[in-house]
Amino acid sequence: MERTCFNTELSELDVNKEVTLIGWVSKRRDLGSIMFLDLRDRSGIIQITIQDSSNLSTIRNEYVVQVKGKVALKSNPNPNLKTGKIEVIASEVKVINEAKTTPLIIADETDALEDTRLVYRYLDLRRPKMQHYQDIRHQIKMAAHNYLDKYHFIEVETPILTLSTPEGARDYLVPSRVHPGNFYALPQSPQIFKQLLMIGGFERYYQIARCFRDEDLRADRQPDFTQIDIETSFLDQDQFLTLMEGLIKDIFKKTINYDVKLPLRRLPYQEAMDKYGSDKPDTRFDLFINDVKEVFANTSFNGYKEVEAIRALVIPGVASETSRKVIDELTLEAKKFSLPGVTVLKVENGTLVGSFLKFLSEEEIKGLFNDLSLKDNDLLIIAAGNKTRVLPYLGALRSQYARKLNLIKEGTYDLLWVVDFPLFEKTDTGWTSSHHPFTRPKDEHLKYLDTDPGQILSYAYDIVINGYEAGGGSLRIYDQKVQHKIFEVLGLSEEDIKRKFGFFIDAFQYGTPPHAGMAFGLDRLTMILGGTDNIRDVIAFPKNLSAVCPMSGAPNVVDEAQLDELGIQIKK
Ligand code: ASP
Repeated sequence: MERTCFNTELSELDVNKEVTLIGWVSKRRDLGSIMFLDLRDRSGIIQITIQDSSNLSTIRNEYVVQVKGKVALKSNPNPNLKTGKIEVIASEVKVINEAKTTPLIIADETDALEDTRLVYRYLDLRRPKMQHYQDIRHQIKMAAHNYLDKYHFIEVETPILTLSTPEGARDYLVPSRVHPGNFYALPQSPQIFKQLLMIGGFERYYQIARCFRDEDLRADRQPDFTQIDIETSFLDQDQFLTLMEGLIKDIFKKTINYDVKLPLRRLPYQEAMDKYGSDKPDTRFDLFINDVKEVFANTSFNGYKEVEAIRALVIPGVASETSRKVIDELTLEAKKFSLPGVTVLKVENGTLVGSFLKFLSEEEIKGLFNDLSLKDNDLLIIAAGNKTRVLPYLGALRSQYARKLNLIKEGTYDLLWVVDFPLFEKTDTGWTSSHHPFTRPKDEHLKYLDTDPGQILSYAYDIVINGYEAGGGSLRIYDQKVQHKIFEVLGLSEEDIKRKFGFFIDAFQYGTPPHAGMAFGLDRLTMILGGTDNIRDVIAFPKNLSAVCPMSGAPNVVDEAQLDELGIQIKK
């Protein structure tokens, strides 16, 4: 179809030019003899002025029209539009297709419920904001393709119908028709394949990879999502992280023209937990958790005796406006973290106030003032118990108060690596991998594999941006015996190891290069760079929080005949 350019390619330099434009009617104002249309195409909006609109009165919003006309200067420019200084005086307007009244307003601000937006996703996607997110997403992928190509990576596709890969979630299963009773699993990530590609001699692999995990959904999770998946051979941790920092710098520059300062700092996991109460800390504001156990070394308060940790968070400037109700809420929140309670004190006129004061000695009060440099109007929150509960609780409060007190400056980014994660986490029944079972233990901790797995730190790293885990990876085990041992610690039987990973550890016998890799979450990166905290905004056709696609209705029942062919009977 004839079209001379996109709407926003035109400017005041094009005045008097004859143009042909195509797009959707975004707004119409019919003044009888004269009609104004806002014409929207992918690039944006331009105003069309129709001086004789007598035969166009049926035109409605979202009609597809082709406009021929001449560019003119507007007498009253519209500063909100990129093309606000100009308009096109139409000589011909052709309706190419009509549109029913749309069930949602096609504009950045819409009051439609998210479920309506998802049912009519193709209309929701017409909103400029939604197109912007996809644009950012595309720019990220292009920056990644270009950077990785420059550094000799090649993109290799790995199977979607495969065997289960252990990333700690439930698998999506696909029944095999040819082998009734057998199932493929959709990959939770290409982890095993990318490691096999290293054994296969590729040295540098990447893939914009689709991953599938059957988990409970949250604001930043989807059942199918996308990673920029990477694996390399022969690089140590420093070399690898440096290479990846270059990639993230390029991505920020190309998408939002933001200069990331390198090198990124590297924060050990334990320090992240102690200081911020999170392994993905939002480091854009300075509220820190403090260890005050020493202050209570001789405490007479039973709740502080023989506990693993006593930690404090000081929120400056809020004590006077902290009501009884807020303090009750802090206690309620503590219960969610299985902490029996929490101590809240205020600093007033150079001293502490609060019902807990009666349990504190003079010396302890002095200790708190000294250690925490307390000032008038500070709110002091102290939590005691197991580290694994106390730290996440105070970490969550830290973020809540930062939001409440507007401590985070819009448009700022803070990036860092969190490193030295524990290799295992304790479960009720034994050990599980903190990252995945292919992560290499620190050489000096290998000796604890038999005696004290909880002690072992790993060569694992996450990249954290503004409190989001934007990616993560590790150096990998490349010794068959160590890999086998890890599976044993994880409680896999000899038979399980053989059935699930036999082909994989067999491959280790044929000259496996030391290798390392990571995956960036493409959806999360798009959220961060696009400026939304809803993952569904950055995926063209996402599922809702119940893992349903409200547009297509997936998942759905299938024909009896299909089930028969697969040898499947549904339990009632
Ligand atoms: N496969 C890992 C993940 O999906 C990333 C990696 O270790 O490369 O989190």
